[in-house]
Parts: sequence; C-alpha cells; structure tokens
Amino acid sequence: SNAMTKTVTLADGTVLPALGMGTWNMGETGGTRFQDEVASLRYGLDAGLRVIDTAEMYGNGRSESLVGEAIFPQRDKVFLVSKVLPSNASADGVATACRNSLRRLGTDRLDLYLLHWRGGVPLGETIQAFRKLKQEGLIRHWGVSNFDVEDILELEEYTRPGECVVNQILYSLEHRGVEYDLLDADRHRNIVTMAYSPIGQGGALLQNKALKAVAARHKTSTGPATPAQIALAWVLRQRNMLAIPKAGTVAHLKQNIAAQDIELTEADLTDLDQAFAPPSRKVSLEMI
Ligand code: NDP
Repeated sequence: SNAMTKTVTLADGTVLPALGMGTWNMGETGGTRFQDEVASLRYGLDAGLRVIDTAEMYGNGRSESLVGEAIFPQRDKVFLVSKVLPSNASADGVATACRNSLRRLGTDRLDLYLLHWRGGVPLGETIQAFRKLKQEGLIRHWGVSNFDVEDILELEEYTRPGECVVNQILYSLEHRGVEYDLLDADRHRNIVTMAYSPIGQGGALLQNKALKAVAARHKTSTGPATPAQIALAWVLRQRNMLAIPKAGTVAHLKQNIAAQDIELTEADLTDLDQAFAPPSRKVSLEMI
C-alpha cells in the first residue's frame, strides 16, 4: 500500500482505506477456485486493505465461511462487514442472524452490520435490534444498503446523527443516477457511501469503446491500464466513497490496488461523460 492511498472517515472518526473487497459468489466452489479466493483476500490484507464485505445471503453462508477461513488468524486487521436479510430484520431475527454470521465468520464481533435492503419489517424495529447488538458488543457500527433518498429521510426520523455510518449502493459508470441526489444526501449526514459492483460485475461495461480508449491513455504498476482499472478509479474519484470490487484472483486484486494510482484527466472525464451521461433529473435507485 502506498502513502497516498485514499481513505474515507466514518462518523465516529474511524479511518478506512477507500478500496475494500467484495465477496459475492465467493465460496461457491471448492478446489483451486476456493483457494484462489482465499489467497486474493489474504493478499489484500497483506497489502493494507481492510474492508471485507460479505452477507448471510451470499451462497447461503458459504461466502461468510470462506471469509472466516481467509481472515484467520488476522481478524484484527479486518474491518468486517456483513448484512442481514430483510426477512431476518425483526428484533429476534436480527439477533439470531447476527450470531449465525459470527459463527460462520469465526469471530466474536462484526465491525459493520448492514440491513441488506428494505423489506416488510418496520425500520424502527431493525434499528432497535442493531442498537442492542452494539450494546452487547457483537457489532461496532451499523448501516444500511440500497437506501434511496426517501429511505434516508425516513431513517433520519429514527436515528441520531452519526448512528448510521454507511449506505451501500450500486454505483458505477453504468449506474450514475445517484450522482443527482443520493451521494450528497449521504455525505451531508456523515454517511459513507459504499459502491457495490463498481466494475460492472466484469460484464459489458468492460467492452465499452470509450472506456477502452481512456484505458489506452494510462499505465499502472501492473502494466497498461485496463478498462476495469479505469472503471474503478472513476468510482474512487468521488469523496466519501468506499468501493468494494470483488476479485477472485490475486492478479485481479493487484490490478485493483494499482488502479488507485490512476489520475483521470479532465479529458478522460469528459469522454466518459459522453459515453455514460450523468443524470439531469431524479433517477430511482437501481439495485442488483
Ligand atoms: P464487481 O463490479 O466487483 O465485479 C466483479 C467481477 O469483476 C468478477 O467477475 C471479477 O472476476 C471481475 N474482476 C475483478 N477485478 C477485475 C479486474 N481487475 N479486471 C477484470 N475483471 C475483474 O461486482 P460485484 O457484484 O461482485 O460487486 C462487488 C461486491 O459488492 C460484491 O462482491 C458484494 O460484496 C457487494 N454487493 C452488494 C450488493 C448489495 O445489495 N448490497 C449487491 C451486489 C454486490 P474474478 O472473480 O475472476 O476476479
């Protein structure tokens, strides 16, 4: 990790590297792929990354189990994030789900626990359950995911400033709607925005002509810049933004770490705006 590495600051002053690691679809297969995924997460911790994002939903707990294996015995290096399903978001449901996640992760506390998305349980009930877990020392912080501006406003009715520390949302070149209002709504409340699927899940985004053209103008410590690196650097250019790309191999993780050093020029940003128009009006939050 280099000294210029970008950081974000949570409402309580906790400073975190702005690059974290996603784990959706990890732990789905055994054998070499499993070992590659474990090696990727361990490489990231050795390189100074700290945030690992998982959820009880991912592979029905298999992602959490893999993360538990990857972080043993360096749990203290990690800022560990997991999420509770909306179907478990009742008072009793949260208490049970959290303990099950802790068991799979092989730890006694989460650094951050998120409501994965809004469901039928009243928000106030879930928040009370999060507060109880915090008092019991089972979680250090709590936050939300897939919350649009109106959800953030409703949340505000139930919380003190600084209580909800993160809103994890879809944000990438292909999904810029949140630039219209949600990024500011988070920031003004000291809520860090965590960008999921920042490199378009490795899909069509990476074939985009404009993105490829920008990549051709840059190089990084891992070689000529790739579209994935530009897409990631573009998300990380925002302040108050923590991005959690998923890299199943050390090679991809090294590229993602190196992407932090890319400085996009005004010309790059203009070209990307042409290919991926910024929002000019409210767009409802999209989710994957
Ligand atoms: P990403 O945008 O992170 O893309 C992951 C894909 O990109 C994988 O196929 C990966 O391949 C590939 N990839 C990673 N690094 C590179 C690279 N340098 N060059 C080329 N390809 C690369 O998508 P995700 O949907 O995984 O989002 C990231 C994380 O966000 C998830 O893992 C999860 O933790 C979280 N998330 C949260 C959601 C929520 O509702 N809160 C919803 C969706 C995601 P490989 O594995 O082979 O490296």
